Amino acid sequence: MTKRVVLIGHPVAHSLSGAMQQAAFDQLGIDATYELWDRPPIELADSINEIRGDDFLGANVTIPHKERVVPMVDRLTEEGQATGAVNTITREGRRLVGHNTDVAGFKVALDKIVGKQKMPRNAVVLGAGGGARAVVYGLIREGFQRIIVFNRHLHRAEGLVKHFGRTAAHMELRAMPWHESIIEAELAKTKLLVNATSIGLTSDESPIPAEVLLPDLLVLDVIYAKTRLLRDAAAAGAETSDGELMLLHQGAAAFTLWTGQPAPLELMQQKLAEARAGGIRSAEGEPAGQPSGALAE
Ligand code: NDP
Repeated sequence: MTKRVVLIGHPVAHSLSGAMQQAAFDQLGIDATYELWDRPPIELADSINEIRGDDFLGANVTIPHKERVVPMVDRLTEEGQATGAVNTITREGRRLVGHNTDVAGFKVALDKIVGKQKMPRNAVVLGAGGGARAVVYGLIREGFQRIIVFNRHLHRAEGLVKHFGRTAAHMELRAMPWHESIIEAELAKTKLLVNATSIGLTSDESPIPAEVLLPDLLVLDVIYAKTRLLRDAAAAGAETSDGELMLLHQGAAAFTLWTGQPAPLELMQQKLAEARAGGIRSAEGEPAGQPSGALAE
């Protein structure tokens, strides 16, 4: 029986994950298909129940469902529990297990941008959605001592901080209101800036003005594209990196969870690059029908 893996999001019209996962199944001779399910929030619970069937290996979950899906699975792994967000589901019989492989993907991206430098201890994170939860948890695990989270809707950032209450008890994790002057003041005290908002995904906009970006910053945008933020940061002399490695490695970890086999990383990276060069845009998080030069998951 051909096994199925589905990507559940809203909307999902094209998918970079599809390009790399299908190629990986094919290369390893695994009889499986990677399907895209565009399901609005109201259909999420039914969709999750559907993947309990024997023909499913599991699923990926993306914008905007990563947090909403948490109570719909039967068990959470340590990362799923800690972040309160799930991007990968596996099956144990009819029971579903919620994982968060974004955490592992973010770790690879963080190590790459830090390089041979000493791991910083302070970070500013823009955004408080499912992706930001993986980023914040990754930073806490890495030993960061001060993380400031800015979000358009402050209450969501406050919810994130509350969620990490115990995990972050030994350090300073704070939500702050999205005011340019406050962001500027915090950036002046910080080495690492991570954009985990979707600003820059569908339009050539930056979440923050170019003037607040300083040359000694490390700027990581989890969007898989040379976003305006990254271009502004590079112009200011900062070190920059996009979301490619996070996307690749969260996908590789998910592949191994579904198949029990090591992921063919080189092939997956090549497929991502081809999809980008061929102009395939990710629909994960992208409003239907809007053209975009950016790519996401
Ligand atoms: P969510 O929908 O859960 O969160 C979206 C975030 O973006 C929220 O913080 C939201 O703020 C903010 N935002 C969206 N639009 C605006 C706007 N116009 N102005 C200000 N803030 C805005 O999505 P995810 O957290 O799952 O994903 C966020 C981004 O991270 C996406 O671009 C996604 O592609 C990327 N990502 C990349 C990964 C990778 O592997 N490279 C992995 C995970 C995510 P508010 O709460 O105020 O609405």
